[in-house]
Amino acid sequence: MTLTVAIVGRPNVGKSTLFNRLAGKRLALVDDTPGVTRDRRMAEASLGDLRFRIIDTAGLEDAEPDELGARMQEQTARALEEADVALFLVDAREGVTPLDRDFADRLRRLKTPVIVVANKAEGSAFAGALEAFALGLGDPVAISAEHGEGLDALFQALAPYADRAEAAAPVPDEDKRPLQLAIVGRPNVGKSTLVNRLLGEERMLVGPEPGITRDAIASLWRWHGRAVRLVDTAGMRRRPRIEEKLEQLSVADTLRTIRFAEVVVLVVDATQMLERQDLTIARLVADEGRALVLAVNKWDLIEDKRKALEDLKDTLETSLPQLAGLGAVTISALTGAGVQRLMPAVVAADAAWNKRIPTPRLNRFLADIQERHPPPLVGGRRLKLRFATQVNVRPPTFALFASKPGELPDSYRRYLTNLLREAFDLPGVPIRMMLRKGRNPYAEAK
Ligand code: GDP
Repeated sequence: MTLTVAIVGRPNVGKSTLFNRLAGKRLALVDDTPGVTRDRRMAEASLGDLRFRIIDTAGLEDAEPDELGARMQEQTARALEEADVALFLVDAREGVTPLDRDFADRLRRLKTPVIVVANKAEGSAFAGALEAFALGLGDPVAISAEHGEGLDALFQALAPYADRAEAAAPVPDEDKRPLQLAIVGRPNVGKSTLVNRLLGEERMLVGPEPGITRDAIASLWRWHGRAVRLVDTAGMRRRPRIEEKLEQLSVADTLRTIRFAEVVVLVVDATQMLERQDLTIARLVADEGRALVLAVNKWDLIEDKRKALEDLKDTLETSLPQLAGLGAVTISALTGAGVQRLMPAVVAADAAWNKRIPTPRLNRFLADIQERHPPPLVGGRRLKLRFATQVNVRPPTFALFASKPGELPDSYRRYLTNLLREAFDLPGVPIRMMLRKGRNPYAEAK
């Protein structure tokens, strides 16, 4: 039996856009004008390795206002009868409207499981995504159907239902979509030596990659069966020369390369450990919210390795607190020593970057730390942290609801972030924490 997924929600929340994206074909007409989509459509769809049928319940857009409620109910009810699970779309930019709440009320009474999807959440349109918690239908998945963002989170939310609908459902195969990896660093730190060492004979050029850097070249390769798409710049592909290169670090090129990547390997030279430019690149990676792995190269040239490691640790702690716990892989690209430890670190960083922490665990954690280390007093009253939930992955992004979010000192927020890192094993991953005013939205919804 094929998993059947209904896309429901009030008009213009982006049902057809999501439908088209999942169906992969331009089956439905999409337009910003209400009234463009007419009929209920059904299509074979896929997301990652999931195969399912989707039903779109658009077609309500042209209904008269007074019959809207009834028609919507009827359409939705019919779709839900056939569906194993419903994607209930709301508009993250507009926030939750009264019509959304009506919808939610009806959905709550049905047996069909519901996944709340906060659409149009591209960039920083999180406000509505947070409001969507208040619908009391579980953690919303923030996506942008139009830009194709957050689809991995949607995949994770849908996957358990696929297992139910079809016992032999294909296991999500990470192998299919290549891991996007970038190797960056100052000139002469050994990037090309490392790339050659990593890829060796297996290197398969897939041609210039438009839009990343002028001379960026992507290589598709397999590491232990896992597909990896690696980007480095053309300057790196020349054979390493003996003489020092006079190339400058191009921050703009580096930034474009970082944006392309999921995991960034920053190569530094152990004999000139963590110079200003190295730290600049590391901060760019953190700012862009990517997963970082530090490769400390030319380790063969270091005599007092213990001292070098201690210095490195100190520098990381003081200069990169936003990536606390970041580990370093010491390598010699020239001799190959330690290089085999690099890709396992990359895969681990990717996993942490994609980690999703269940809301109940997060709130047990929140209750626990407030007991042990209460937030500071403000004007004689203790600030209360009421509720936390993870609103996104890649990087892990948390919303924290507090009584007076504006008054929570930065130091406590950093402290919380670091505890969160430790408790949920997220070393070296950029973590986003958004403070919101309010109480437990689930409690409010009841
Ligand atoms: P890139 O500009 O970052 O691509 O750096 P290259 O790969 O061209 O390397 C610059 C220089 O450092 C070359 O002379 C390499 O042979 C040398 N090099 C690279 N990796 C190592 C290493 O692990 N140990 C030593 N001793 N030299 C290295």
